[in-house]
Amino acid sequence: MNTQTPHLHYRLLPADLSGHRFQITLTIAQPDPEGQVVSLPAWIPGSYLIRDFARQVETLSARSGRRALAVEKLDSQRWRIAPCKGTLVIEYTVYAWDLSVRSAHLDETHGFFNGTSVFLQPHGLEHLPCLLDIRPPEQHSDWSVHTSLPEATGLPGAAVRHGFGLYRAPDYDALIDHPVEMGTPQVITFQAHGAEHELVFTGVIPNLDLSRVAADVRAICEAQIAFFEPESKRAPFLDSAERYVFMTMVTGSDYGGLEHRASTALMASRSDLPVFGDRRQSEGYRTFLGLVSHEYFHTWHVKRIKPAAFAPYDLARENHTRLLWVFEGFTSYYDDLFLVRTGLITEAQYLEMLAKTINQVQTGPGRLKQSIAQSSFDAWTRFYKQDENSPNAIVSYYAKGALAALGLDLTIRQATGNSRSLDDVMALLWQRYGRDFYARDPQARNGLPEAAMPALIQEATGVDVGAAIAAWVEGTADVPLAELLAPQGIRVESKRPEHAAPVLGATTRKQGSDLVLRTVYEQGPAHEAGLSAGDVLVAIDGLRVTADSKLDELLSRYQSGQTVTLHVFRRDELRRFALALAAAPVAVKLSRTE
Ligand SMILES: [Zn+2]
Repeated sequence: MNTQTPHLHYRLLPADLSGHRFQITLTIAQPDPEGQVVSLPAWIPGSYLIRDFARQVETLSARSGRRALAVEKLDSQRWRIAPCKGTLVIEYTVYAWDLSVRSAHLDETHGFFNGTSVFLQPHGLEHLPCLLDIRPPEQHSDWSVHTSLPEATGLPGAAVRHGFGLYRAPDYDALIDHPVEMGTPQVITFQAHGAEHELVFTGVIPNLDLSRVAADVRAICEAQIAFFEPESKRAPFLDSAERYVFMTMVTGSDYGGLEHRASTALMASRSDLPVFGDRRQSEGYRTFLGLVSHEYFHTWHVKRIKPAAFAPYDLARENHTRLLWVFEGFTSYYDDLFLVRTGLITEAQYLEMLAKTINQVQTGPGRLKQSIAQSSFDAWTRFYKQDENSPNAIVSYYAKGALAALGLDLTIRQATGNSRSLDDVMALLWQRYGRDFYARDPQARNGLPEAAMPALIQEATGVDVGAAIAAWVEGTADVPLAELLAPQGIRVESKRPEHAAPVLGATTRKQGSDLVLRTVYEQGPAHEAGLSAGDVLVAIDGLRVTADSKLDELLSRYQSGQTVTLHVFRRDELRRFALALAAAPVAVKLSRTE
C-alpha cells in the first residue's frame, strides 16, 4: 500500500503518564455517508468474559475539517458520528490503568496496550488496511517499542525496528491482535528454526539470567515448530509477522498469559525467574516455562485452528462454543508435555505435575454436575465468574480437558500399538483448519465445527473414540487414568497422605486478622455440620482461631470421626456447630513401574 490507498489511520500518543491516559486519533478518508458507527470490542479474544472496554473511553469528539460533528452513543459499545462529506477525524482518550494481560496500562515506567482497549472499530470498514502511528511520550525519548506488528517499511514516517513511527496491519482483525509494549525493558532475541523471537521483560528484575531463559524458551519453540511442521519447520506466525514477541510484565506475585497470532502477553512473578549464575531449577521457573509453552502452542491451536464459533469473532457479544476443552484442554496437556519432550524437566517431574492436575480435578464435586463441554459453553458466565461455590458447581475445561486429552492419547496409542497418537490428531487439525487460516480470504476462514471431533479423531487415527468423548467430555465420567496408564508402565496409586491431619471439608482465607471459610465442599464435614462460606472462625474446641492459626497443626491432635465444636461469627452473630472431622482426602501418586 501507499498513503493514498484507502486505509484507516490511527495515531496513538501516551499523553498523560501519571494520569494513565492514551490519546488516540482515528482518521477515516471515506466514512459511512449515513453516519459512521464505531465501537470498542466488548471482550478480548482468548479471555472469555464481557469486559466492555468502551467504559474506559473518557472523552470522544469528531470533526470533519473544522466542523465539529455530533456524536451519539448507541449502546454500551457503539457511537454514531453525524454524516459528513469529507475526511472524518475522531479523537478520544482511553484510561489505561489495568495491570493485566487483557487491557492497557500506562505510567512513567512503561506503556502496554491491547488493540481491543484502544482502537475503535469503524463498522463496515474493518476490511481496510490500517496504519498505526505510535508517538513517543514527551518526557521519555529513551523508550523503545516492542510488538509483533510489522513496521510500515517503505512509507514516509515508517518505524524502524524498536522505534516509534508507523506500523501496519492488513485489517482491523489483525490490528487488534498485536499488543504493544513500550518503555525500557530487558530484551533478548533468538532464532528458532530460522525465525526471529524476542523476549521482553518489563519491571525491575535484578540479575535476570536472560540468556538462560532464551535458551530454554528456544528449545520449546523449536520443538513445537517441528511438531506441527516436521518437514518445512516453518514458524506459524510468518504469515502475519516477521517475529514472535513474548512480552512479560514482572511483578511480585502475578501469573497469567494471553495468546495472539504472533505474540503473547504474560504476567510472571519475579521469584519465578532465574538469577544469573544460579543453575538450579525452581518450581516457579518450571511454572513460567509451562506458561510460555502453553501460550506458544496457542499460536497454532486457537489462533489459527479455531472453533467455527470464532471464525470470525463477534466482538460485540459472547461467542459460545462447547469446544474449549479441545482448545484450552489440549493446550494444557501439551504445554507440560513439551517441557519433558525437550528435556527441560524430567519424567519424574512431569508425573508429579500430572498427579497435581489429577488431584485438583478430583477435589471438586462440581465435576460430577457439569461436563467439560458444558463448562466450555458457559465459560463466560461461570468459569470466568467464579465464586465461593464454584468448586461444587463447575469443572475446569483446562484441568479436566488436559486429562481428557491424555485419556484420548492413551486410548489411541493402545488401540494402534503406539503407531498413532493425539499428535496425529493435532497434525490433521493443523492441515485442515490452521495452516492456511490467514492466507485465505477473510470470508473463507473457517473453523472446527462443534460436533466434528469424534469423526476427525477417527479420520486421523482410525480409532473410534466416540464413547470416550460421550462419557468424559459430554458426560461427567472421570477419565479412567489408572487403567489407561498401566500399559505405559505408569502406576497410579491412590493414597491418604501419611500423618495427614483430619479435615473440616472447607478451604479458608485470611480476612484482616480473621480466618474465614472460603469454600465449603458439598457433603463434606463443614457442610454436614451446617457451616457456610463466609463464616468467620472464632474457636475450635474452645481454642481461639485467627488469620495466623495453622489449622492443620490444630487438627492434627484429632482423629478422623471425632467431633469438635466450632464457634463462628455469621453476620456478626455468634453460632456454635458440632462437626465430625473427616480423614484427609486420598491423593494420587504416579510412578514408573520397573
Ligand atoms: Zn490457554
